[in-house]
Amino acid sequence: MGRLIVITGPSGAGKGSVVAGLRRERNFHFSVSATTRRARPNEREGVNYYFIDRDEFEQWIAAGDFLEWAEYNGNLYGTPRRAVLEALAAGNDVLLEIELRGAQQIRDAYPDAVMIFIVPPDLRTLERRLRGRGDTADAEVERRMEIARHEIKEAPDVFDYIVVNDELDQAIAEVGGILDSSQGADFP
Ligand code: 5GP
Repeated sequence: MGRLIVITGPSGAGKGSVVAGLRRERNFHFSVSATTRRARPNEREGVNYYFIDRDEFEQWIAAGDFLEWAEYNGNLYGTPRRAVLEALAAGNDVLLEIELRGAQQIRDAYPDAVMIFIVPPDLRTLERRLRGRGDTADAEVERRMEIARHEIKEAPDVFDYIVVNDELDQAIAEVGGILDSSQGADFP
């Protein structure tokens, strides 16, 4: 059985970059989420997300097709169940890059999941990164900062490991070290 690895962190903490770095170094099954958010210009269907509408998302919920799902900033995001369970059963480690509420659901359902929270060195850095990304409007930055403050407060209750992403390569190495040393889990 593979391990279920959850990486969470406020928008702008750089968890996407950490995950991209890990994927270059290691063999994971990366879970592609479904979302009702509209695709950004550089995003591709089936690579970054499955972009579906709210009706379809609600049908997936009703059918029990999500391992976890949550509403984040007005949009729904969820982890398709089947691909994850199949990859674990095939002995592959599975990486989920998800927000806090979903991470809590995974923690409750799979207590042996490896839970990692990525934080920015401080909130000013976070805001600078969000604004610097260029694809996020001001009001959206404000909302994401508000969510970030909340997530950072809650994180110690949910996660086994908190990694500060100041220098990207160092953060990637630190997460790699956590994965090398943690036992992970057996899944039914
Ligand atoms: P974004 O809109 O920036 O792509 O993602 C917003 C937030 O939703 C990020 O924190 C991202 O990690 C999270 N997210 C992406 N996919 C999922 C998912 O399947 N489930 C949950 N709970 N959160 C997700």
